[in-house]
Amino acid sequence: PLDVETLGQSTWNLLHTMAAYYPKNPTPTEQKSMQDFMQLFASFYPCSHCSQDFRDELAKNPPQTENQNAFSRWMCERHNKVNEKLGKPLFDCSKVDERWRNGWQA
Ligand code: FAD
Repeated sequence: PLDVETLGQSTWNLLHTMAAYYPKNPTPTEQKSMQDFMQLFASFYPCSHCSQDFRDELAKNPPQTENQNAFSRWMCERHNKVNEKLGKPLFDCSKVDERWRNGWQA
């Protein structure tokens, strides 16, 4: 059976890491590719009620792909929407690079 929790953890790991290493100065083609990737991701995410909600969320808040900073923050905000829905604590999005790219600073 589909393990929605383990799949979710692994998927957020990939999505936040992709955002953390997204270009600082993406070309228009890279920006379009990432927008397409997110739409396709949302079409095929194996948890069907998750993917339905995520498609609605993408329609309301399209991916902000202008640079790494904007895209990482956008991803963090989308994850917080899911956290909110599930009654989980919200993540401080000013710390997203520390968590997913640079490592926690002492
Ligand atoms: P996760 O939420 O998986 O988070 C993993 C780690 O990410 C955390 O330990 C934390 O360090 C970090 N983190 C937490 N919040 C943020 C943030 N906002 N920004 C950056 N980093 C953060 N589950 C359902 O039951 N119903 C759903 O509808 C649903 N929809 C989902 C939609 C998508 C697109 C994805 C990828 C997952 C979805 N899930 C859903 C799974 C759910 O989000 C969790 O992954 C799962 O419940 C496990 O939660 P967790 O508490 O272990 O941590």
